[in-house]
Amino acid sequence: MSIAFIDLQAQRRRLDGKIEAALMAAVESGAYVMGPPVRAFETALAAFGQAKHALGCANGTEALALPLMAWGIRPGDAVFVPSFTFCATAEVVPWLGATPVFIDIDPRTYNMDPAHLEAAIEATLAEGRLRPRVVIAVDLFGQPADYPALKAICDRHGLKLIADSAQGFGCTIDGDHPLKWADVTTTSFFPAKPLGCYGDGGAVLTDDDDLAQEIDSYRVHGKAVAKDLVGRSFDHDPKYLNMRVGMNSRLDTVQAAVLIEKLNVFPQEIEWRMRIAARYNEMLASHVTSVPHLPTGNVSNWAQYTIEHPDRGGLAAHLKDQGVPSAVYYPIPLHLQPAYDHHPRGPQGLPVTEAKKEVVISLPMHADLDEATQDRIVAAVASYKA
Ligand SMILES: *Cc1c(COP(=O)(O)O)cnc(C)c1O
Repeated sequence: MSIAFIDLQAQRRRLDGKIEAALMAAVESGAYVMGPPVRAFETALAAFGQAKHALGCANGTEALALPLMAWGIRPGDAVFVPSFTFCATAEVVPWLGATPVFIDIDPRTYNMDPAHLEAAIEATLAEGRLRPRVVIAVDLFGQPADYPALKAICDRHGLKLIADSAQGFGCTIDGDHPLKWADVTTTSFFPAKPLGCYGDGGAVLTDDDDLAQEIDSYRVHGKAVAKDLVGRSFDHDPKYLNMRVGMNSRLDTVQAAVLIEKLNVFPQEIEWRMRIAARYNEMLASHVTSVPHLPTGNVSNWAQYTIEHPDRGGLAAHLKDQGVPSAVYYPIPLHLQPAYDHHPRGPQGLPVTEAKKEVVISLPMHADLDEATQDRIVAAVASYKA
């Protein structure tokens, strides 16, 4: 039987008709845009993510753009981002005319290196061309960035901190979600993410009441929200009073309906993913250069299970012959991409990112990966002789 890289059908079968029923109920309700499941899902999501507010939106990319818009990020502003990530992390910055500054990663976790961030902020201030405004940290492959260290740096320099948890949503440090440190957590419900829907979707989580209202406004064409109506009378639907230049970035009712069912089982799935990853680590450690490192106290949702191998290309071809799919995230980091290579980098460049891009390779990983299949994957890796 062929092995899936991420097996979404196994999850659907396990949920035994719940998703189909939720979808049909949403279809029959006729409330296709911002219907009751959207609010219900937002409430459940906020509770899960230890947040005061959760706001659904169209995808994980716009989830990043919404807080930047609300904070008035503009030309001349610097937004510090890792380069070893999916392009969306940096993509939203030039949308607003601001400048991404690329930061290197920690070699063991692949997440933003706080020391390099600090050096880049200081170099940016010394140069005086750009105003440091925001840091976007990514929970790469599912594990939390070093939020305590990043938050201390942001506080010292008066910067906002976004946790781009599109991959890592549900990850924790000593039981706390990234929002304990970040001003905003964003996530994506793209199907292949650990908490995915059946199309595109995203969300923004925050404890900031004012920011939550502004994001609600920006996601619906800059409509008037409660704080805009203080001392003002408008006798039509406030969505026809435009306070800001916003956009159309809503989470569909049908996707919210799917997500309610998936969120119910998500905590259990994270436990399974932790167990599957620990088993991979144990069985693979002697066969590869490095298995993933998870600092004590961290929970990862294991969006990817990523190993390092000096002959990655050879290993990938061998795995393919054995019927085992694999993937490389990310072969070209953002600071080397044609669309982004003219943007600034932290001092001394990004040597760790440039070394890791050559050796990382991700193996099949999902909550329904059974031990027999995992044994086949491990045997295929172990049988590779470069
Ligand atoms: C997937 C992803 C996004 C974007 O999410 P979409 O829903 O596809 O727009 C942003 N950041 C990271 C790190 C991602 O992996």
